[in-house]
Amino acid sequence: MGFLLSIIIGLSAMIPGGNDMIQLAGIQFKVIQNGDSDHRYIWVHGDEQTAKMALENHMKIQEGTAFLVTGILREAEFFGGIIDPNRIFSSEGAKANIQKYNRKWSRAKKAETLEIINRDRDSFLNKILPKNGGLLIALHNNYKGYNVKKEVRNSDEVSIKKDQNPRDFFICTSRADYEVLTQSPFNVVLQETMPKKDDGSLSWAAIRHGVRYVNIETRLGWLSQQKKMLNYLEDHLK
Ligand SMILES: [Zn+2]
Repeated sequence: MGFLLSIIIGLSAMIPGGNDMIQLAGIQFKVIQNGDSDHRYIWVHGDEQTAKMALENHMKIQEGTAFLVTGILREAEFFGGIIDPNRIFSSEGAKANIQKYNRKWSRAKKAETLEIINRDRDSFLNKILPKNGGLLIALHNNYKGYNVKKEVRNSDEVSIKKDQNPRDFFICTSRADYEVLTQSPFNVVLQETMPKKDDGSLSWAAIRHGVRYVNIETRLGWLSQQKKMLNYLEDHLK
């Protein structure tokens, strides 16, 4: 523990302009703050570049705080191995994820790195989660296969529009937000109930902390669609 811990502390001290970066177990996020709106945005998968463009563009015109992962791959570098940054927001999920991507690690290293995630998680969440009932918006892209129909069985309510591509959709955790978004032209599902098995994704952490969360999921490359959906949230969810 001591050795890895000192590496992390050393690394965070070395980052230039340290105030503009936050980290969780060595996974770095750039912070873009524009005004003091309570709206928060996060982009966690480095290969989902359309979502990154939509968010960077958005932050030039809208107020709020955005957190952008610094890597360019889906999995982040993690103590010489890799990890999915969207599976570390519960201890159970992080443990399974360390195992999935780093099978050859010793039992001690797996335990030690899990410990570091668990130690950092709350202060990281404290920085990214909005206070005062604000909204956390996550932006994701998909390639092929994944679409809104795969979320139906995990959802409490669904509103699927006939003329929308099933790969473009919102996932929200607040029923009030869901009621607004059903009126939108876009697909939306409500996930307000914690699953039996928490896979460590940020949406469940948001529910645990009573934070309103909306994920905007669109096809990779469909920048105008993702911008439209982001603007819709901005205009309709306060
Ligand atoms: Zn993603």
